[in-house]
Amino acid sequence: MELKKETHQFKTEVQQILNLIINSLYSNKEIFLRELISNASDAIDKLKFRAQTEPEILGKDGDFKIKIIANKASGTLEVIDNGIGMTYNEVMENIGTIAKSGTGEFLKALEQLKQQELATPQLIGQFGVGFYSAFMVSDKITLITRHPDSDKATLWESKGDGTYTIEETTKDSRGTKIILYLKKTEKDEDDFTDEWVLRRIIKNHSDFVTYPIVMDVERDEPIPENELIKDKDGKPIGSTTKKVVREETLNSMKAIWIKNKSEVSQAEYNEFYKHISHDWNEPMSHLHLKFEGTTEYHALLYIPSKMPMDMMLRDRKHGIQLYCKRVFIMEDCKALMPEYFSFIKGVVDAPDLNLNVSREILQNDVLVRNIRKNLVKKIFDLLGELDKEKYEKFYNEFSSIVKMGMTSDFENRDKIANLLRYKTTKSEGKMITLKEYIERMKLDQKFIYYLTGDSFNALLNSPLLEKLKEKDYEILIMTDPVDEWVVQSLNEYEGKQLKSAEKGDIESEDKVSDEKAGEYKDLFGAIKAKLQDKVKEVKASSRLKDSITCLSGDTYAMSAYMEKILRASGREVPEEKRILELNVNHPVVSKIKAIFEKDRNDSKIKDYSELLFNMAVISEGGRLEDPSNFIKMVSELMNTSL
Ligand code: ADP
Repeated sequence: MELKKETHQFKTEVQQILNLIINSLYSNKEIFLRELISNASDAIDKLKFRAQTEPEILGKDGDFKIKIIANKASGTLEVIDNGIGMTYNEVMENIGTIAKSGTGEFLKALEQLKQQELATPQLIGQFGVGFYSAFMVSDKITLITRHPDSDKATLWESKGDGTYTIEETTKDSRGTKIILYLKKTEKDEDDFTDEWVLRRIIKNHSDFVTYPIVMDVERDEPIPENELIKDKDGKPIGSTTKKVVREETLNSMKAIWIKNKSEVSQAEYNEFYKHISHDWNEPMSHLHLKFEGTTEYHALLYIPSKMPMDMMLRDRKHGIQLYCKRVFIMEDCKALMPEYFSFIKGVVDAPDLNLNVSREILQNDVLVRNIRKNLVKKIFDLLGELDKEKYEKFYNEFSSIVKMGMTSDFENRDKIANLLRYKTTKSEGKMITLKEYIERMKLDQKFIYYLTGDSFNALLNSPLLEKLKEKDYEILIMTDPVDEWVVQSLNEYEGKQLKSAEKGDIESEDKVSDEKAGEYKDLFGAIKAKLQDKVKEVKASSRLKDSITCLSGDTYAMSAYMEKILRASGREVPEEKRILELNVNHPVVSKIKAIFEKDRNDSKIKDYSELLFNMAVISEGGRLEDPSNFIKMVSELMNTSL
């Protein structure tokens, strides 16, 4: 068999991550073992999942376990699994390269935090450093792995110093063996070849791993009576004990989701979370549920405290794990959780599940739908019970995802609406609920007003809000792009319609009188003719009080912000012309009218039209097509007036 060998540089990001781990997580060294065991356990999960449809893949090796071999004399520690292993290409992709897009940005952000001394182990752990954490304790790591689809094995080796080698080799058994050449330890440091140190670490961090974590231990055992050599008085000669090596299981494998709540400590809940999520942070909150009824099932769900990095990266894999009578069925069972709660991690154990169905069919399985419905309800309940401070943390992390539910889950729209929080023109930077908004509405106020855009301050001071503010109405300020979808789906809340402050006319008694509008008809017609390409209408404004001009849309038109979002995402958006509103109570507008009435062909009208339009664009934080021309016009005006 021809075997190849290559030497590679670590990708820059990997080396950066390695340096970070080594320099920032050193106080937490023992955690490397949890990471390696979690990877081993995941690898067995993956193999079992495939074996459901291809049982022959298991061969004679169906006794799943994770084996730890510690050798004090050679200073090595091995973690061995008989899981799915990796092919040569998978080793290339997974180890030494970080395929996750966004790693560069993450590292940059982290570097900045580091300069401010804010980079915590938690933050780094959020990224899931996994395998690399073993370099905290190792001078060299060798990984040998074989995938069941391949008859060759792969050997990967590195000292964590910038390069690694990868070569083809042979290996009898399927799965992965990782050999750590441990760093020399100081007197007061843990010796990771010590049986009792390993027992403690595994008990603390990996007790609930569902496969046995085994280690050969040597014990003095009494020699059986009939094997003893005795003197003539019947007294044993020599030692009565002998050294015996036995394989011991170090974890209890207790499925904590099956237990009663009272039997599980907070520390156990947290460790279990870290095991299934690969997140190093404590979870924000958890839900431990047992449903009894026509069907019985258990669920243990967690809300992470931070948006998992992998939510935005690569193919996410740690969502809800599905078990059936404590037997692992699949990871990331999407059918059990709607997309808008996809950051929730946990385990669902449903004994009555029909396991002969594929992932796709699972989606339509009545029982699965039923479980999902219950879980969703419980999550809403839990969120409703979080205290204000915790809830705001939750909201800051996850609201953008949750809001997407507004467009997909009609049934729970009201519940999602209850979760919404917005800052307003009156809330002084605090976020309020829609319920609170309604309680604070003025007696004569019919609508829930909102304005969308990306700059909070520009929105807060937008001329579009002048009349509403004069009436002492409160306006919700929405600065998350997803809010555009929220307001489209949520037409009303508790009987009150939502209304954009930039669309349509505002409440009717504010309409400019027909008579007054009539006086300006000709001027506005002329301005419209000059701005032909830019606006579809010029009209007397019902929303301006102090400002001269603003742009608005039809009741059903796309908002300016929505247009901006869609364009930014690279989508073709048909040019939707907007309405130029002018404040007929403003002296500037009446002066322009006077000039117009004196000479309808005055060339100034074109300039003024341009100016008015550009002012409206600037006031909503937009960009001018031709700023230098605008400056020129303003300069001329200043020149004549100064
Ligand atoms: P993470 O586990 O967070 O994805 P790691 O760096 O620990 O990050 O591992 C990278 C990838 O390498 C894993 O996603 C998995 O595909 C693969 N891998 C790691 N350890 C093993 C193992 N023992 N068996 C099979 N594949 C593994």
